[in-house]
Amino acid sequence: MSVSENLKTLKVNFPEQVLLIAVSKFKPNEDILEAYETGQRDFGENYVQELVLKSDTLPVDIKWHFIGHLQSNKVKYIAPFVHLIHAVDSFKLLKEINRQALMHNRVIECLLQIHIADEETKSGMTPEDFYTIISDHNLRGLKNVRVIGVMGMSTFTDDKEKIRKEFKTLRAVFESGKEKNSQLTEISMGMSGDWKIAVEEGATMVRIGSTIFGSRS
Ligand SMILES: *Cc1c(COP(=O)(O)O)cnc(C)c1O
Repeated sequence: MSVSENLKTLKVNFPEQVLLIAVSKFKPNEDILEAYETGQRDFGENYVQELVLKSDTLPVDIKWHFIGHLQSNKVKYIAPFVHLIHAVDSFKLLKEINRQALMHNRVIECLLQIHIADEETKSGMTPEDFYTIISDHNLRGLKNVRVIGVMGMSTFTDDKEKIRKEFKTLRAVFESGKEKNSQLTEISMGMSGDWKIAVEEGATMVRIGSTIFGSRS
């Protein structure tokens, strides 16, 4: 199946109010353009160098989501154009994003990544760290970032109930955070294998790669 056919199939049962982010890491520009031609505008990338190359050579109205682990020393490369940074996992990183956004006279929207899986490998902060960061007095100094929600990744497992439980946890952390900070509106959760569960549990955006572009080698 082609990229455009995959997208069409995916969209048959896709809820209108959820933002679909097409994850295009390791995929060539021609595949991204094929999705673009169908009207897709939100794309997700994991690696800074790859994202910069693609943003330089693809249509300027693409909204680029940075969904990978971001190192502080690389923020400067994506600060001029990135639409949303999903996986902010420390206050230190948030401060650097603020610094770079200021230099480009922008406000960069960010999500804070919460650790919900039971694997050591999946990064993210604890709910307690999240509540501290989003408290007024910590964010007040950062005028060039806007924290608009949370992001999480479930454990890699076939156990659907386990995945659902983890998404429920993320949703609950989001709701508690919202009581402290009314700017929070977004929950980024769900990938090719688990996006339907994520949507049932309240995702406002999902990040889907292989279902659209095929498996990655
Ligand atoms: C690669 C990736 C995705 C997409 O994964 P698929 O299983 O191919 O849909 C989503 N989120 C993150 C953070 C990723 O790294």
